Amino acid sequence: MEYRKEYEITTETYDVPFPNNYAVPFHIFERGEGCYLFDKNDKKFLDFGSGIAVNALGYGREDLASVAFKQMKKLIHVSNLYTTEPSLELGFKLISSGNFDAVHFGNSGSEANEAAIKYARLYSKRIKGDGKYKILAFTNAFHGRTLGALSCTPTEKYQEPFGPLLPGVEFSDFNDVEALEKVLSPDFAAVIVEPVQGEGGLDVMTEEFATRLNSLCRELDIILIADEIQTGIARTGFPYASAVVGLEPDIITLSKPLAGGLPLSATLIPKKINKLVKAGEHGTTFGGGPVTCAVANKVLDIIFTPSFLADVQSKGDYLAKGLEKLSEKHAAAGKVKGLGLLRGIEIGKPDEEGMKLCGEIIKKAMDNGLLLLRSGKNILRIAPPLVITESEIDKGLEIISNILEEV
Ligand code: PMP
Repeated sequence: MEYRKEYEITTETYDVPFPNNYAVPFHIFERGEGCYLFDKNDKKFLDFGSGIAVNALGYGREDLASVAFKQMKKLIHVSNLYTTEPSLELGFKLISSGNFDAVHFGNSGSEANEAAIKYARLYSKRIKGDGKYKILAFTNAFHGRTLGALSCTPTEKYQEPFGPLLPGVEFSDFNDVEALEKVLSPDFAAVIVEPVQGEGGLDVMTEEFATRLNSLCRELDIILIADEIQTGIARTGFPYASAVVGLEPDIITLSKPLAGGLPLSATLIPKKINKLVKAGEHGTTFGGGPVTCAVANKVLDIIFTPSFLADVQSKGDYLAKGLEKLSEKHAAAGKVKGLGLLRGIEIGKPDEEGMKLCGEIIKKAMDNGLLLLRSGKNILRIAPPLVITESEIDKGLEIISNILEEV
């Protein structure tokens, strides 16, 4: 086959073979080391985004590469008709991380949430009978782009072109206890919620809201799903952010950092659901393969240790203090948001102007060698590799401070 070869590989390109839903130009990166990415010209970028909260252990890890290499030589794939030791080991590790009976492996955050929704509906149908399939999600939530997960993600731009979506999904205001009490009924199969709204503005769940969610779901026999795709595996300094905010979920969904940058997701389910599931009712070809699971075992061995977790907590506090200083110093900077090493700072107001300014700051930061993310309309989001140092945090904050001085 003849391939098109005339494209030019420089450091930035508009000419891409990807759908128009991705914004051009693309910056082309070549390699990574620690908390830095390098492009073709060897320009160095401090990474405050980790590939959207994925690369928790940073780049260029010999230890992860060596685990993957060895496992690839031994065995790459067997499907879920069979299993392998790395998958069993990871499964047991994950179910021991809480009160879980089984793990459904998948390949992405959306897929983990699809599985959670399906297991919750299966439970509701078999325990409460037909018709109790509603799902409650919240304003500013993000649960993914596949049709089920998208149905629970109330952003007009993401949903509008693809309707009709899943029937029976309703939305209530995040952290509004009164609204929650009004809307929930035994007709709901599940509530899906993020302990910290990663994409939608970095609001943290209040203790009061978590407590009421726990009790209402228990009372009405509704499956409580914590979407910890972004917050799970120590992003907030604790294995799961649910524990930090006081949420007691039946199901936890995980993905982003789980396999150190390789695609893997996990939907952790309790015994009361698993005992109702029959062979063949849900499945996946690639999910939980030996390579991704072997790397994930290594990732968890590193991250789920008291010293690593304590270090993330202290760096999270350090980052928050640094952001508070920026907020005091610069008129354009407002409230500091988030938890642990998932933090943000408001830029202007949540309107068109704030959004534009936030975009400009992200662009200028990139020109100055710093990669940043956005959350909601106008929140600068910072989710660095968990192995970032205090001096790297200082360096990034200084770049942001200099930009805020100019805008
Ligand atoms: N849930 C949350 C909380 C997320 O942050 C994301 C991704 N940003 C997803 C689900 C979807 O994950 P994926 O893009 O891997 O499907």
